[in-house]
Amino acid sequence: MFKEYQQLRIPGPTPIAPEVQRAMERTILGHRSGEFSKIFAETIKKAKRIFQTEQDVLIVASSGTGALEMAVANVVEPGDKVLVVVTGVFGGRFAKIAKAYHAEVLTADFEFGTAADPNQIREILKQHPDIKAVFATHCETSTGVVNPIQELAHIVKETNAVFVVDSVSALVGMDLKFDEWGVDIAVTASHKALGLPPGLALIAVSQKAWRVIDENQGTRFYFDLRSYRDNAAKDTTPFTGPVSLVFGLSKSLDLIEEEGLEQGFKRHFLLRNMVRAAVTALGLELFVKNDRDASCTVTAIKGNDQLDPEKLRKVLREDYKIVAAGGQQHLKGQIFRIGHMGYTHPMDILTTISGLELALKQVGYPVELGAGVKAAQEVWANEKNLG
Ligand SMILES: *Cc1c(COP(=O)(O)O)cnc(C)c1O
Repeated sequence: MFKEYQQLRIPGPTPIAPEVQRAMERTILGHRSGEFSKIFAETIKKAKRIFQTEQDVLIVASSGTGALEMAVANVVEPGDKVLVVVTGVFGGRFAKIAKAYHAEVLTADFEFGTAADPNQIREILKQHPDIKAVFATHCETSTGVVNPIQELAHIVKETNAVFVVDSVSALVGMDLKFDEWGVDIAVTASHKALGLPPGLALIAVSQKAWRVIDENQGTRFYFDLRSYRDNAAKDTTPFTGPVSLVFGLSKSLDLIEEEGLEQGFKRHFLLRNMVRAAVTALGLELFVKNDRDASCTVTAIKGNDQLDPEKLRKVLREDYKIVAAGGQQHLKGQIFRIGHMGYTHPMDILTTISGLELALKQVGYPVELGAGVKAAQEVWANEKNLG
C-alpha cells in the first residue's frame, strides 16, 4: 500500500493535474498529421498568453537546460562579449554555456540568497557598451531568490544588447510581461510551474532578438531557432515534436486560463507566504531573508547545529512521503528546499508543514507540534478574510 503515494515538493518535476495526465493518455498522433498540426497551432496561441506576448513563442523537445543552450547558441558568436547575472547555480549555468560557445563572459555575481542589484548592471553596461547580450535568471531555483526582471529589462532596453531571461522555475508562478517589459528571449520548461512531465521547453523571441539571431553566423543545428520559426509558420516542428507533452501542455494552459493568470500569481504568493510563516514559526531560518527577494515558487530553509538538512530530508521522504530538495553545490547539506509551484493547493502546504513538524521532532529538533501549521493557516485565513 502507498507505494506511489507522495507529496512531490521539489522545484521540478512538480505534481501533475489529473486532467493533464488524462490529456497525455490520448492516442498518439503522427507529428506531421493535420490533426496534430491543428492542436500544435492552437497550443502555441495559448502559450503566448502566459508569456503575455504577441511575438513568437516556439516549442522544443528538450529539458530546461536545452532551452538555455538554445538561447545562447542563437545569440552568441565566438568572441562576443556577454554579461551574465549570477545569483546562484542556474545563473552560473548560463555563464558555463556561454563559455562553451566561446563568448567573452563577464559575470555580475551576487551573494547566494540575495537578488541582483539593477544599478550594478547599469554600471557594467555603461562601462562595456559592446555587450551583445545580458543573461539573467528570473527565479534562482538553487536559493529561492526572485530577480527584478522588470527593472533589468528596462535597463537593457536602453542599450543594443538583447535581454535573455531564464524563467524556467518562474513563468506562470510569477509575473513576466514579455512585451510590456521589453524582454527579448524568455525560456521555460514543462516540468516546473506548468505542471507537466519533463521534456518540453518553450521559448519566446522578440523582434530585436530575431535581428541578432538572423545575423548570427555561429554553429547550431538541432537548436537553430530559425528552423523552429519557419516550421511554426507551417504549424509544425523541424524534427519530431513531443506529441503527448503537447496534448498535456494544451490542457495545462486551459487550466491556467480557467484559473486566470493573475489569480495564479496570487495563489503562488499565498503558498510562499504560508511556507515562510510556518518555517519562521518553527524557529527555522529562511535562506532568503528579504520578503521582496523571495520566490513564490520555491523556498530554501537553512540547517543549523541541531538540524542536518540531509537527515531531515531522508525522514521526510521515508516516513512522511514528502519529497523535498537539498542544496546544490556548496549549499549541499546546508539547506533544504520546498517547491510550491504549479498544481499545488494551499491544502498541500498544510500537509507538507504538518509532516515537516513530525519529521523535525523525529530527528530531535525541538519543535512545538502544530505551531507551523497554525501560522500557515493564519496566513490563509487572513487571505480569505475569515476574520
Ligand atoms: C529547472 C531549471 C532549469 C532547467 O533544468 P533542467 O534540469 O535542464 O530541466 C533551468 N533554470 C532554472 C532556473 C531551473 O529551475
